[in-house]
Amino acid sequence: MTPSFYDEGALVAVLTTQPLDRALDYKAPEGGCHLGAFVEVPLGPRKVIGVVWGPGKGDYDYAKIRSVIRVLDAAPMRDEMRAFLEKAAAYTLTPMPAMLRLATRAPGLGDPPSMRKVYRRGPSEPDRVTDARKRVLEFLSEYGDLSFTLKELAELSGVTSSVIKGLVKQGAVAEEDSPRDLPFPPLDPERPGKALTDDQALAAGQIANAVASNTYGTTLLRGVTGSGKTEVYLEAVAACLRSGRQALVLLPEIALTAEFLTRVEARFGARPAEWHSGATMTERRRIWRMVGMGQAQLVIGARSALFLPYQNLGLIVVDEEHDTSYKQEDGVLYNARDMAVLRASLLGAQVVLASATPSLESWANAESGKYARVDLEARFGPAVMPQMRTIDMRTEALPSGRWVSDTLKRAVEARLEAGEQAMLFLNRRGYAPITLCRACGHQVGCDQCDARMVEHRFLKRLMCHQCGETKPLPTICPSCEAEDRMAPVGPGVERLGEEAVELFPDARVAVLSSDMYGSARALKAEIESIAEGAADVIIGTQLVAKGHNFPSLTLVGVIDADLGLQGSDLRAAERTFQLMRQVAGRAGRAEKPGTALLQTYQPEHPVIRAILAGDEEGFWRAEAAEREAAGVPPYGRMAGIILSGPDVAQVFDAANALARNTAPLQRVGAQVFGPAPAPIARIRGRHRVRLLVKAGKGVALQGAISRWVGQLRLKGDLRLAVDIDPQSFY
Ligand code: ADP
Ligand code: ZN
Repeated sequence: MTPSFYDEGALVAVLTTQPLDRALDYKAPEGGCHLGAFVEVPLGPRKVIGVVWGPGKGDYDYAKIRSVIRVLDAAPMRDEMRAFLEKAAAYTLTPMPAMLRLATRAPGLGDPPSMRKVYRRGPSEPDRVTDARKRVLEFLSEYGDLSFTLKELAELSGVTSSVIKGLVKQGAVAEEDSPRDLPFPPLDPERPGKALTDDQALAAGQIANAVASNTYGTTLLRGVTGSGKTEVYLEAVAACLRSGRQALVLLPEIALTAEFLTRVEARFGARPAEWHSGATMTERRRIWRMVGMGQAQLVIGARSALFLPYQNLGLIVVDEEHDTSYKQEDGVLYNARDMAVLRASLLGAQVVLASATPSLESWANAESGKYARVDLEARFGPAVMPQMRTIDMRTEALPSGRWVSDTLKRAVEARLEAGEQAMLFLNRRGYAPITLCRACGHQVGCDQCDARMVEHRFLKRLMCHQCGETKPLPTICPSCEAEDRMAPVGPGVERLGEEAVELFPDARVAVLSSDMYGSARALKAEIESIAEGAADVIIGTQLVAKGHNFPSLTLVGVIDADLGLQGSDLRAAERTFQLMRQVAGRAGRAEKPGTALLQTYQPEHPVIRAILAGDEEGFWRAEAAEREAAGVPPYGRMAGIILSGPDVAQVFDAANALARNTAPLQRVGAQVFGPAPAPIARIRGRHRVRLLVKAGKGVALQGAISRWVGQLRLKGDLRLAVDIDPQSFY
């Protein structure tokens, strides 16, 4: 057994976030250190932060081994967390230092707990009571023994800070040092939630019982948008808090809205910790520390919140579990949904996967009995699922440069007359996907990537969606030098917005696209104001499909329902199905019934028909049968290997070398496909070549792959990335 404490001078292995292939040996510092302790160690001329990972290896001269400099003021990493990082690293074939980086994404870890000045009512009375002074003292006595920062107190009592300083001198206000990182206010699970319907109560009871069991289990909570999944899992959170354990709710970044947090606050009487990309450094440090001390009971966060140092996590909810943003596509390639299940299984915690349109993976796990499944059948209250119909574009004569059919136009007009909102959905950012020279047919591409440049009129530039490179719109064709012949081809949301303004001159049109707002916060603010009625026609990309509530929205028009059906992605049908169902779920969430109209050139396509029929089980069964026959996930295993480098020949040579020496894979019965140029064959000037590994479901693929790619020595600037369970095939 690994000892849990090391006395001074004992050899310990310290894992750091530096890209080394092993933990390094150090001597335990004066006073010793715990297993899992966060420490500062010398590394060459530098000092770096690391974690005591176990006993030292002892394969160096003891005399030359350096000492740990100091133990940091943070709770040691728990055994469970170390095991989780090791398992996650083994699963995703990620080096441990990169894994540790995910778990230490808090600034100032090595800083002593910093203090700040706070102010409260002091023992004395001031010599002279002015109006301003009176306001401060009255405010403070109202709040009893709470204390405030200078800025808060000045703002809340409406005085300048010099008034407060004056009161401090007289002892009427006391100035004290207090730790900067304060615990989160306690949440009260006993506050009454909404009165649940029978259906909801049954679901909530089942999950709450599972939580109370203190064992591992995963439940798929399926219910149409608006059926009350959130109400139900908040009851499970309440059960978890009642048992004294922490809870985590993961959301896609964009669904983490003020509206949602307000709802949680209303349920539990205080705001939970909120972990997202927009959090300030101070907030991050506070959350990281308080989570580790058990003084943040509930975290609402985006994917990386899974790597916080929870002290006693009892429940992880993954809302919108099918959402592709749970897969991190750069750096460590992990799927937060799958890693949530892994972490919970190590902890004896419960997982709730909530979705209106679960992933086929989760659906199959529920079918096979690996996950429990709970269904909410109806929408809450009077709202019903929208009616869905197709518009057969083969019979709609559309002039060029127009994308809204007359049928759809009339439907929108009817909604506008009724004072309701309509949404036009197109999953394409920018103004036009192609900029073409009318003289020679040249299409403007990115200089660094094999991708077309997309016009963004809003930015007045062309942009590459792969690398983000932009350039001005050319007036002269870069190929044939003809003047003023460049023309936009095809629609993006910006162009659709222009069309909507023309078609509906009296309506307020708003375009919602992630790139048109400076920050996620600005975008969320815009979404909220639209939900409150600031626009009549909403034009949006897929981000509007993610859990927002637009109460007066009664019509959704899908401009190109065929868009997702193209392409070679094995999940194309599943994605289209989910997206269309989610978008349609925006319509008619309140009292007014909704309609969804899908413009399509393939009304007979099985996916389009399944969407219309609302036959989810039927769709999944058909899709599952196809994947099973093809031996692809979730009925088989897959991994993508991407080799990239500046020199195309060198990249192919390396890929061919791999493809020739597949003995380690053959031994487990895995097959290799490729090498082939990746669908996007060049990104940021690096050529990309892809190999695909396929294996049976029970195969221990990771070991075989690491032995296989381990044979290759990466020369020069060549890079190799392994993507286990790839979600996107770019
Ligand atoms: P979902 O998460 O499935 O989309 P929500 O939990 O957000 O559904 O519920 C949709 C709406 O219906 C919310 O405004 C929610 O407050 C309301 N709602 C759901 N269940 C109830 C209930 N039992 N009592 C009152 N309001 C409810
Ligand atoms: Zn590019």
